[in-house]
Amino acid sequence: MTSSCKVQTSQIVLATKNLGKLAEFAALFLDHGLDVKIEGPPEGLELPDETGTSYCENARLKAEWVGHTLKAASLADDSGLEVQALSGAPGLHSARFGGPKLSDRERVLLLLEALKGVHGERRGARFVCCLALFLPATGSTITSEGFIEGRILEEPRGLRGFGYDSVFFVPFLGKTLAEICPEEKNKISHRAKALERLFAGLKRSDE
Ligand code: IMP
Repeated sequence: MTSSCKVQTSQIVLATKNLGKLAEFAALFLDHGLDVKIEGPPEGLELPDETGTSYCENARLKAEWVGHTLKAASLADDSGLEVQALSGAPGLHSARFGGPKLSDRERVLLLLEALKGVHGERRGARFVCCLALFLPATGSTITSEGFIEGRILEEPRGLRGFGYDSVFFVPFLGKTLAEICPEEKNKISHRAKALERLFAGLKRSDE
């Protein structure tokens, strides 16, 4: 996959301390044919609390804080899992569902417990990602959203991925996100879709 859009910077600071996301974004930029150095924030730079009321507010908060502080281009994301039967929960609180001390596996088990006795369409779910890119040259921030639709299984399947991947079944693949390799996930994930839209937005603003 290539992109002809111009990202007018050779370096982007990712407003996250999650090394997995750093690697994922570096691969996604390469997939788009963009030779941009992606790095994490310098040691000692604290990221702001996610106090926004939407994914995009949180992403914008982090990108602008890091971008203004370092006077650099900065990319931030915020994401979550929304389950129909739980009225969109855990949503914005996906990373802390059940409390900050739980492991990913414990969070998955808690989700399965919350969905006990729920069948059919009500197990429908989607991952949402909002990206915000702060550009110091213009002082502006561009945001974009991406989604992937699926269904929550009754028990985990697959050993790859992180978070809720092992119970998130993607019908058109016939697999969970934990049963596919990172390269495959990078083509279809909510983060990949949000990045595609971000590049499309940049391209439009170039024209
Ligand atoms: P944040 O975007 O770092 O605030 O994290 C949101 C939370 O949503 C993560 O900690 C995961 O629990 C969940 N999540 C977001 N994206 C994914 C994904 O691709 N797979 C599995 N879980 C995810």
